[in-house]
Amino acid sequence: MSAHAITREASLERDTSAETAVRHALRDIALGRMVVLVDDLSPEHGSCLVMATEFVTGKHVNAMTREAGGMICLALTSERCEQLELKPMVGRNENARGTAFMATIDAREGVTTGASAADQAHTMLVAIDPSSTRSDIVMAGCVHPLRGRPGGVLERCAHTEASIDLVRLAGCRPAATICGVQNDDGAVAGMLESRAYARRHGLQVVTITDVIALRRLHDRRIQRVVSTAMPTRFGTFSAVGYRSGDGGEHLALVKGQVDGKESVLVHVHRACTTGDVFHARGCTCGERLEAAMRSLEAEGAGVLIYLSSDAPAEALVEQVISELGVASTRVTPTAAPSAGGSCEHLVAGGERERWLDAGSR
Ligand SMILES: [Zn+2]
Repeated sequence: MSAHAITREASLERDTSAETAVRHALRDIALGRMVVLVDDLSPEHGSCLVMATEFVTGKHVNAMTREAGGMICLALTSERCEQLELKPMVGRNENARGTAFMATIDAREGVTTGASAADQAHTMLVAIDPSSTRSDIVMAGCVHPLRGRPGGVLERCAHTEASIDLVRLAGCRPAATICGVQNDDGAVAGMLESRAYARRHGLQVVTITDVIALRRLHDRRIQRVVSTAMPTRFGTFSAVGYRSGDGGEHLALVKGQVDGKESVLVHVHRACTTGDVFHARGCTCGERLEAAMRSLEAEGAGVLIYLSSDAPAEALVEQVISELGVASTRVTPTAAPSAGGSCEHLVAGGERERWLDAGSR
């Protein structure tokens, strides 16, 4: 990466003190420590201790019981809940907040009554072991699993989803052991009390807003996954494939040498299967794509960024340009419409095509 690229990266992650705190929290989680997750969006729900379940021991469970006092739960992804065939705790969930309490569980083997701190930790480890199946657990038991929504904290801003996202972003298996923080009198600890609690115990504090910001950043971050020479009708390009944190795949066609170059020709094209592949009448995407490739070939150097249809263009384009080491760009006029909005061809009512982006017609 060039120095220029690093500056770009830094501006993407604006280094504020809140972000430093989050980074420290991620490091602590990766080391098997607990952090305090504060619900700053709905403060009445208080805060909870969070740790990556893969590190949980009886000592941790005991410490949570004694030092935090709330209910200890095992936050699992919906995928994991399905693998273990966990059942919802009740048929019709009337929980005001929609917390997805699942039927309680114990490990089938390796526990006595299931109730001790060590037994609970063992059950949690069995539940998150990728090789475990339904037959390795029994229902009901002493561990309370919670089912996180598939979209994580971006789908539901609550402790369950935020804790799973947090441990995943720390590089751990996506399962969190959490415990509500209570005051000495048994009341749910408020924001200030939770921060004081964290200071007393030397723990990092993360808010749900922090986790949302972190998720957004992660979802947009791209990684180069492949790079190969690609001869085409229009000339030979090098095709560089990227994957973003949300699983999106993006492609850059690079012509010639662009690393460190000023005023590089850049086209941004948003994928439009109907136009790009089938050359459907009524959309000019395919033509614009071909024109872009021709112009890069004629210029002898430049980049065509091909974005998946629903990708957030601005952040991705900036990252791809940085990653390629381009010093400065010259965006072509034809890039504007396809970068601004996608030309989506939605079939409404089975027949009628709707053109969302009038500008691309
Ligand atoms: Zn189109």
